[in-house]
Amino acid sequence: MHLKIITHEKVVFDEDVDEIYTRGTDGEFGILPNHVPIMSALDIGVTKVVQNGQSSYFTTMGGVFQFKDNEAVILTPTAEAGKDIDVARAKEALERAQARLAEKNAELDIKRSEAAVARALARLKATMSD
Ligand code: ATP
Repeated sequence: MHLKIITHEKVVFDEDVDEIYTRGTDGEFGILPNHVPIMSALDIGVTKVVQNGQSSYFTTMGGVFQFKDNEAVILTPTAEAGKDIDVARAKEALERAQARLAEKNAELDIKRSEAAVARALARLKATMSD
């Protein structure tokens, strides 16, 4: 089967794969070849891809997963391969977002800060897995 991971800016991944594991808004799920057609909203998280027994990891920051006729597409606002992630930047983003949340400022957009925390944690997880 084939997987494309597409963002606003670029095609991050476009290869044949054996297994896909990703994080839908209703929880994690896996796809093997010949799976029935499925469409799911994605959460912020890590997508794992297996090719010839080798795993690789991508952040996928929400969006949509579609699978039909052994063609999988992930359309997501941003995605990075684990190997391309700047760990120091993700750690700084995590600290900034956690500090904002700790301020308990009424003006604060909590959802935005929580999403920033989730993105940073997904990036750190993707690099640690890779
Ligand atoms: P930051 O506060 O560090 O910008 P962010 O979560 O706000 O983090 P995004 O808005 O999700 O960043 O992404 C903006 C762009 O920067 C995207 O193209 C994304 O792929 C890239 N990017 C963000 N963080 C990293 C990182 N740690 N390593 C590599 N690329 C990153």
